[in-house]
Amino acid sequence: MLVLLISDVHSNLAALDAVLSAEPAARADEIWHLGDLVGYGPQPLEVIDRLGALGASNVLGNHDAAAAGLIPPRDFNALASTAIAWTAEQLSSAHRDYLAALPRVETSAGVTRVHGSLRDPLWEYLTSVEGAREHFNRQETALSAVGHTHLPMALRFDNGALDARQPEDGERVDLAGGKWCLNPGSVGQPRDSDARASFAILDLNALTATFHRAPYDVGATQRLMREAGLPDPLARRLSFGR
Ligand code: ZN
Repeated sequence: MLVLLISDVHSNLAALDAVLSAEPAARADEIWHLGDLVGYGPQPLEVIDRLGALGASNVLGNHDAAAAGLIPPRDFNALASTAIAWTAEQLSSAHRDYLAALPRVETSAGVTRVHGSLRDPLWEYLTSVEGAREHFNRQETALSAVGHTHLPMALRFDNGALDARQPEDGERVDLAGGKWCLNPGSVGQPRDSDARASFAILDLNALTATFHRAPYDVGATQRLMREAGLPDPLARRLSFGR
């Protein structure tokens, strides 16, 4: 089974569509999104509807939770909370209910999915050795997948030893030995200085993950953000992938 692993689309439909039409993604049997469908970008409804129509499985992200009214926007920085308030105004009650009902942790096909970490599903950035150990200690499956950092990453935990790598475009990681935690990076707002949408293909038969980037029309998303009156720094950062 091939799974398209994506995260942090953040209402960026142009980036999502570029990923969905990329050759490796088009072959996937399932789509697993790791949280933050909305926030920051200009097309929250379209993104929810697109992934819903494709039967994608989702977990709840911190921006999803705030836009749905589950947590207060004051927990975010000023730019993010402005975008969350705008997003909340756009949502129909059906879209809001959909986001509010998303699970914080989902497991199927032997893979545990969560937005942040298993210690703190909504908020933890899995960037420290201590945090990674706490995550792996709670991980009951051989494989897990997270988002939230907007950085592609493959973490391995084997006999107490941790190994982390940031895979490049086209790089394949063999998921042998120990437990693994994969982060496909962000579709809608990458933060590794590469503006292209980031995603991964998980091959559950071969036990490999291949990381990919897809170029998209950044200017189209930026125009929609400016038309919507979203904060300009959020539009500008898309050009730089940070
Ligand atoms: Zn995010």
